[in-house]
Amino acid sequence: PPSLTQFGTQMSKLTGVRAIMKDIIDTLGTTQGQSFINLSAGNPVILEPIAQLWRDCTADLLSSPDYSEVVCRYGTSQGYQPLIEAIIQEFNQRYNLHLNARQILITPGSQALYFLAANAFGGYTTEEKLKKVVLPLSPDYTGYGGVSLTPASLLAYKPRIDLQDRKHRFKYRPDFDQLCFDSQTGCVIFSRPCNPTGNVLTDAEVRQIVNLAQPLNIPVFIDSAYGPPFPGLNYTEYQPVFAPNVIHCMSLSKAGLPGERVGIAIGDQAIIQALEAFQTNVCIHSGRYGQAIATRAIKSGALAQLSTTVIRPYYQAKLNILETALEQYFPDNIPWFLHVGEGAIFGWLWFQNLPISDWDLYQKLKAAGVLVVPGSPFFPGLQQDWQHIHECIRISLTATDAEIEEGIKTIAAILPKVYSSK
Ligand code: PLP
Repeated sequence: PPSLTQFGTQMSKLTGVRAIMKDIIDTLGTTQGQSFINLSAGNPVILEPIAQLWRDCTADLLSSPDYSEVVCRYGTSQGYQPLIEAIIQEFNQRYNLHLNARQILITPGSQALYFLAANAFGGYTTEEKLKKVVLPLSPDYTGYGGVSLTPASLLAYKPRIDLQDRKHRFKYRPDFDQLCFDSQTGCVIFSRPCNPTGNVLTDAEVRQIVNLAQPLNIPVFIDSAYGPPFPGLNYTEYQPVFAPNVIHCMSLSKAGLPGERVGIAIGDQAIIQALEAFQTNVCIHSGRYGQAIATRAIKSGALAQLSTTVIRPYYQAKLNILETALEQYFPDNIPWFLHVGEGAIFGWLWFQNLPISDWDLYQKLKAAGVLVVPGSPFFPGLQQDWQHIHECIRISLTATDAEIEEGIKTIAAILPKVYSSK
């Protein structure tokens, strides 16, 4: 094969969970006769009213006089103008803002947005200084581990662990004694709600991060792939935080449209312009078919509406199933902790003083017929060794009620054996 460059080598590696997903797909493909309970999937469930919304919007697009203008022509890199207008109207009305069209950028999915951000603001400057992409609270979205062309620029901070009054519950908090931004900080990224933990940083925590970054002109990308107003996968009420250095980032993937690749960035005009030019060079623009149907779903109010009446209750009910199963089957004398479920579509479990690694636990559970995701790939950029990294697993709320219950029962039966193997 032709030899790869540094970037080529870097970018052709499977990072984080993608590598585990490959193992899972291989496992599902090669093991005959054994059936698995799959609690690993990241793909959202197809919810019929949401799929119907996208079908209706598609039918409307097909019969509209705009159809050929939408799909038979190039558009601007910034995005399909009617979609940009629909977003401005939605956000200005809902959150009482004064956004203008130059503050919006549509990208082909939000993963692409983080790639643009991490490489426009992180990496080597023209003076050969390394600018850092800071993740203020680790663990966070595993995909951030793959977005930088200069992996050394990624820097994550260890969190504080806050045990809750409720037994077997915990919450990660940013450690403001450690967190520090300086002239080497290029940008800040975090997900809220967080994949994998379901954490929602409080308004005060977000404000503190934003305020630390603002005097240094550091952009803060708040990844709201699960946030309000769509897909609205927050189980605790909150409003997005807006500030001059905040880029509010959204995705339609968890609102039923992952295949169409629509990501949305809202923020400072100069930052948006830099990302837009970068995007022009990479891919010209995001697909317009998805943008055109999204325009209809947002403009009519249906997407925000169905987010709170269909998407949110669906996953919230799954979270309840998970919590009930954990209370019922997990041994009380084992130090297991569930991260408080404030949003997103996962349960994050921490097994304190786990005698084996998260990877070995994953293998043992796989052998018992349950597929989960080991936790260590969710700590990209954390440059210090920390036992906690190897003590967690992620459970997906995309499985059926019966699968979640059965899976938890199986894990519960294995835990005492694992802990007595000390
Ligand atoms: N951010 C978070 C927190 C995610 O969980 C995901 C996908 O799982 C993404 C970003 C990327 O999503 P997309 O590129 O489909 O918008």
